[in-house]
Amino acid sequence: MSKRAYNFCAGPAALPEAVLQRAREEMLDWHGKGLSVMEMSHRGADFVGIAEQAEQDFRDLLSIPNNYKVLFMQGGASQQFAQIPLNLLPENGVADYIDTGIWSGKSAKEAAHFGKVNIAATGKAHNYFDIPAQREWQLSKDAAYVHYATNETIGGVQFDWVPETNGVPLVADMSSDILSRPINVADFGMIYAGAQKNIGPSGLLIGIIREDLLGKARASCPTVMDYKVIADNDSMYNTPPTFSWYLSGLVFKWLKAQGGVLAMEKLNREKKELLYKAIDESSFYTNPVAKECRSWMNIPFRLADESLDKAFLAGAEERGLLNLKGHRSVGGMRASIYNAVGLDAVQALVDYMREFEKEKA
Ligand SMILES: *Cc1c(COP(=O)(O)O)cnc(C)c1O
Repeated sequence: MSKRAYNFCAGPAALPEAVLQRAREEMLDWHGKGLSVMEMSHRGADFVGIAEQAEQDFRDLLSIPNNYKVLFMQGGASQQFAQIPLNLLPENGVADYIDTGIWSGKSAKEAAHFGKVNIAATGKAHNYFDIPAQREWQLSKDAAYVHYATNETIGGVQFDWVPETNGVPLVADMSSDILSRPINVADFGMIYAGAQKNIGPSGLLIGIIREDLLGKARASCPTVMDYKVIADNDSMYNTPPTFSWYLSGLVFKWLKAQGGVLAMEKLNREKKELLYKAIDESSFYTNPVAKECRSWMNIPFRLADESLDKAFLAGAEERGLLNLKGHRSVGGMRASIYNAVGLDAVQALVDYMREFEKEKA
């Protein structure tokens, strides 16, 4: 059998090995039906069963209240940057955006194509290494919604608190930290997440949306993007990404077997503490993010001497530690340690970092 490497990719990211094995077993002949999931009609009883089970398991994992719809969509989080204002921002309305890095910045820029955007707070003055405190936010009185990203995947900056919006619907991009620890869904009007970080394969985006926010789309909103149309058709107005949906369902089953998001929180806390400790204890590695808002999922770090970056990455790859190169806009290194990346992977990384430092410092 081929050896599986430790994969620190930011996305598409590592998947649980047990899930991949299960998918392999079921690939040619799903449950004795003589065909693969990819070859099934999305409207047939078999696939509808797979889809409903996946939704139920996802609801169980996050304790999603009954007045929220779960929508399985396409186009990734980037499409939502447009789809959200098309559905939730009236032509003459205003939406508040919190700018804490590259993804939330992009979402605000896209929304501005569709209406008035108020940047209610920005981390720019802190080079996006810190999140502005709520008391500094300048929220509009009449915003249609407040949008933010709970975790900035590139900058490695994460909220460990939920903003107070005084009844204005809170819309959260959770692409890179959904299912990593418990959340209270009722705090949000809408949550959305691309699958390829902490859920499953790319091609799928999951939205959780409060029912009273459905049916507000503009007349100009494309039918396939209208949340109410999607909800009324159980996310099958048109052909959904069936294989990604199925595989995500296997991940949800796996997560439940691991003990759900509470168990993930415990494990993810251990993982990030191990890695930040290794960074903070050395003068060879640094992470620039303010301690209170350091990401649990995406941990950027730099070498004291950046001319050693190439050697660090080459040595890592030799040991089967893959995809540690930082985002092209940031440089340095980044370790993404989503649910499917085990403590053993983080330990192997930390061991390598110490060894490399000893050799080069
Ligand atoms: C990856 C990511 C996106 C973009 O996702 P796509 O599926 O590529 O559009 C948006 N927001 C966050 C927080 C992300 O991590």
